[in-house]
Amino acid sequence: MSNTVYLDYHTAKPVDPRVLDEMMPWFTERFANPSSLHRDGDLATEALEASREKVAQFVNADNDEIIFTSGATESINLAIIGYMMKNRKRGNHLIISEVEHISIHNIAKYLERLGFNVSKVPVDQYGRVKLSKLERRVTDKTILISIQYANNEIGTVQNIQEIGEFANERGIAFHTDAVAAEGLVPINVERDNINLMSISSNDIYGPRGVGALVMRKRYRVNPVMIGGGQERGLRSGSEDIPGIVGMAKAAEIMQSEMDDEVRRFKAWRDRLIREVLSIIPDAHLNGHPTDRLASNAHFRFEGVEGEALLLSFKDKGISVSTGSACSSKTLEPSHTLISTGLLHEEAHDSLQLTIGRFTKNEDIDTVLKALPEIVGKLREMSPIYKGR
Ligand code: PMP
Repeated sequence: MSNTVYLDYHTAKPVDPRVLDEMMPWFTERFANPSSLHRDGDLATEALEASREKVAQFVNADNDEIIFTSGATESINLAIIGYMMKNRKRGNHLIISEVEHISIHNIAKYLERLGFNVSKVPVDQYGRVKLSKLERRVTDKTILISIQYANNEIGTVQNIQEIGEFANERGIAFHTDAVAAEGLVPINVERDNINLMSISSNDIYGPRGVGALVMRKRYRVNPVMIGGGQERGLRSGSEDIPGIVGMAKAAEIMQSEMDDEVRRFKAWRDRLIREVLSIIPDAHLNGHPTDRLASNAHFRFEGVEGEALLLSFKDKGISVSTGSACSSKTLEPSHTLISTGLLHEEAHDSLQLTIGRFTKNEDIDTVLKALPEIVGKLREMSPIYKGR
């Protein structure tokens, strides 16, 4: 990396070297297509099915409930568009939350153009969905509720089990975007009452460009990718065997190391939150104080633009973020922060620090050392900061 400290793990993660080792032979020596009937094709099929089993185990699903895709965005498209299209005779109403990832908001707009109705459930000041608010949006035409497992910006974890139960009791299907949560929260589709779930490989240190839709047995979707009929006709296109093998290896490693990893992250996250809030005046924590991802510390510093903070960190060789990478090149404030009740100018004053597998203790030391000085300097130049 060109920078010495990287605390932007929610935006992108490196591929674990153990994952890369597992993938390499499938690029060069064992490159056959699993659709081929020769011995080499059989080997590819075996790898595909063994990978399916590992990913299924990771989320406590059955093997035939895993559909490999090209990543989270495609899984989400297949889940939401696919489910709404397949089941439109039963109803045309979808409910999502205000803090969903931009991909889900854009899918909702697309579905509205096709004649579906979409409702958005608001969240509280921590970014959490309340069942009472969800209840008010349910109609007899509601067929799908899609609510994220955890937020990719502020790290708030939803009470997914309760939301899943709420949906299932009413005969409504429940999809969750588990991209931000996977590898940080133990996911169990059976326990959590999840019917459809989108996951990606990179978020568990696998390669980018691979993901999966977990689709429980009684649920059906229309394909959104039409072609040669791979993945039981639900995701056509020759399977990316190296990528899929990589995702499975990443899931296997994550399953055995997650507990230790999460414990390590929590100590760093809590240290970051504790020290930042005590050392820097007029600093606030965004997101839930306790029900948050172990990797996520998200702050707001009054009178300090997040972009200016990010550039000051950049000068010091430290990679951090102001929010979602997918919308970071626009001047719009984060829709998630606005949904939690922040004003536009407050939402712009935010900084996101996210920890990952290769974070070191010294990285946290470096950031904690740099931050008070950077915030102080920017406040000195700020025409609006009136604090101490
Ligand atoms: N959902 C969430 C919560 C995300 O953070 C992202 C982006 N990493 C996506 C969906 C889309 O993922 P991708 O760009 O990998 O398809």
